[in-house]
Amino acid sequence: MSDCCDASAPAPSISPESDGILHVPLLGNPNTGKTTLFNALCGLRHKTSNFPGTTQEARVGTVKGLRIENIQQCDVRLIDLPGIYSLELEQIEAQICRDVLAGRLSPAGEPIGDPEAVCIVADATNLARNLVFVGEVLRRRLPTVVALNMMDLARAQGREINLRTLEEQLGCRVVPVSARKGEGVAELANALYGATVPTHTPPGEQTELELWADKLAARAMHPASGAAASFESQVSLTDRLDSLLVSPWTGVPIFLLVMIALFYTIFSIAQFPMEWIDSVFGIVADQIESHLPAGILRDLIARGVVVGIGATAVFVPQICLLFFLISLLEDTGYLARAALLMHRVLKPFGLPGYAFVPLLSSHACALPGIMSSRVIPDRRERLATILIAPFMTCSARLPVYVLVTSLLFKGRPLFAGLAFVGCYMLGAGAGLLSALIARRTILRGPARPMVLELPTYKLPSLKTALATTIDRGWIFLKNAGTNILAICIVLWWLGSYPHVAPPESAGRLRTQAIDLRAAASAEPTTARAEEALANARKLEQEADRLTAANAKAHSFVGRLGKVVQPVFAPIGYDWQLTVGVLTSFAAREVFVSTMAIITSAGGEDADAHDEGIVESIATAPRDDGKTPVFTAATSWSVLVFFVLAMQCLPTLAVTAKEAGGAKWALLQFGWMSVVAYAGAFIVFQGCRLMGMA
Ligand code: GDP
Repeated sequence: MSDCCDASAPAPSISPESDGILHVPLLGNPNTGKTTLFNALCGLRHKTSNFPGTTQEARVGTVKGLRIENIQQCDVRLIDLPGIYSLELEQIEAQICRDVLAGRLSPAGEPIGDPEAVCIVADATNLARNLVFVGEVLRRRLPTVVALNMMDLARAQGREINLRTLEEQLGCRVVPVSARKGEGVAELANALYGATVPTHTPPGEQTELELWADKLAARAMHPASGAAASFESQVSLTDRLDSLLVSPWTGVPIFLLVMIALFYTIFSIAQFPMEWIDSVFGIVADQIESHLPAGILRDLIARGVVVGIGATAVFVPQICLLFFLISLLEDTGYLARAALLMHRVLKPFGLPGYAFVPLLSSHACALPGIMSSRVIPDRRERLATILIAPFMTCSARLPVYVLVTSLLFKGRPLFAGLAFVGCYMLGAGAGLLSALIARRTILRGPARPMVLELPTYKLPSLKTALATTIDRGWIFLKNAGTNILAICIVLWWLGSYPHVAPPESAGRLRTQAIDLRAAASAEPTTARAEEALANARKLEQEADRLTAANAKAHSFVGRLGKVVQPVFAPIGYDWQLTVGVLTSFAAREVFVSTMAIITSAGGEDADAHDEGIVESIATAPRDDGKTPVFTAATSWSVLVFFVLAMQCLPTLAVTAKEAGGAKWALLQFGWMSVVAYAGAFIVFQGCRLMGMA
């Protein structure tokens, strides 16, 4: 089939000798399988960046599997362009496609001239509409290959396409592929070398072009016989499912069930790898502490670097799992329906249904969530989504929720669970209200109607889901990993320096311990000796605890906490909590370990997962020695503060980049801080009025 053009095809117009690299943009309508084809051609050999000066993701991959006779093997760089319906549209995505085709833009920044070949992905099950786009690209008169994708589906629907006719009419090579199964992918890679300038030029005027596409599609399609029935049945299956999934009566409960199942799966599965990762990093830190000689270097590595990497790595399972499941759901076609349903919910708040997936992703981590808001076409709606994304409860807040709800509801897991759900709802509610305020003030503008193509339902592809997961997980590690590592090192330094002498009380305890040990060694094997040794160990532990607490109190962070504390007094925080909150402005996940160290719950080896730690934090006293740091009113105040506050430097950096300016990040930080403080103030003072301590 695909060799019908070879006989008449002119010699390859590309000279691979030039710089040894063929630059090939990959374009097509949305949902034609571009991403799947890109992954099939390039596997994991790709880099993700942005097109310069835009927030549009630019993926550049290297094509595998080229075996060309007589042509020196050389690299094909595939440039994945945004999916668009027409090159002529006034939208940034179409502008990028035009500029890349004209050689004015490349992902690397400097223009690379006309592309050596162009690959258009067309959907074989929707030939007429796709040919309109093919026509637009062919008019550019660049060496072109059409990848006719979804051939498996077309076949199953009984659509027989005469490829020879299609190639003749288009005047360029057409390669049938089924990207999902990997069929025809190698042929396509080879065809890119032989891409030729099309022999015909399609009409330029839009209606004529549509007519041309219609005629061409009609000519290329074999009159389908019995197969039409199977196509009909597939369409009616989609229709029947849609009447269930998109109607408000059945659609909304099903949607809620799907979401509950999604989050339940994440929490029940991710917990295990998270615990493993946590304990591996704990063991590594212990090993370093026991093998390296004491000193700055050991402390830096064990308490700065290892803690920093561990603090990031522990979230990877949850984030990857959520993206894996989101990708599977998207692939089935369901997420498009969910976005449509959510459009009705989000619209009153000035947000489009497109915001649903970014906001859902932000429940894993706001970083990839904010990046995925690129799918929102309207600039104001996109900005509103970016601004409120960090209100969604991300994985890093969970350790804080666990700590505080277990302080508040000791031995009452049901209430703790309800408080947990309440936190999720408070975050989402505050986000939606903030979006409403933003859309009524600084981002005022009309709501765009949502034009969303509902794809037919399909079985999801594991390969695509894995590729998406790795891609998103990597974005998180790259952005958060490096930042959180730096933050942890700085925090470690601020929390450990300047060094101060241990307090006198600790010295006294150690002297007593030495006396006890001496007494024990005088009569080694007796029961009294054992008791003396046990007491000595207790005294030494207490001395360690006092030393660590004293060091923290006199460190830079401790001193800062005492200076800033009056600001937090109205929401019930003493200086120790103030230190915990201040450090968590860089990254909220460090709160629990900071509190553990500062209240010296775990001495030097604070481990947030130890039952004893929660107990010690719960009973840790303020400086007066009587009032606990966490009273009930304070605990509620801390919980609300962490739900609402913007405590994540990496997210601020991504907001500045994606929204196009530091002012948006500052606005986000300022607004969320004010909301968090106000929320905590109302809760704390309310609790006090109700007579809580
Ligand atoms: P894009 O929007 O153009 O990047 O399209 P995607 O690559 O995300 O694909 C859209 C949907 O079509 C996904 O559900 C894919 O799994 C599915 N898909 C892609 N290629 C094929 C194919 O060759 N056959 C079938 N049956 N499905 C495909």
